[in-house]
Amino acid sequence: MPRRSDEKTKRPKLKTKKFDSKEKFFRKKSCRFCLDKTESIDYKDTMKLKRFVTEKGKIMPNRLTGNCAQHQRKIAAAVKRARYVALLPYVGE
Ligand SMILES: [Zn+2]
Repeated sequence: MPRRSDEKTKRPKLKTKKFDSKEKFFRKKSCRFCLDKTESIDYKDTMKLKRFVTEKGKIMPNRLTGNCAQHQRKIAAAVKRARYVALLPYVGE
């Protein structure tokens, strides 16, 4: 197995704390949808969805939003649907 050469070139990535400054705004770690017991997320509710999208139009990861995996998936699907019907932009400014 030519594994050695790979090991020499690839170095283990050091975890950098990039999101330290951002985390200040999202200190709340509990999933707000679980707290409200909302099961479905409406793609037409852009005011709600905008909170989970960056200004560049990207969907925020749940380590920043604090959502659980189930609701994060539903948000991602809702944002994508909202983009398709042009309620949310694919690319922000
Ligand atoms: Zn949840």
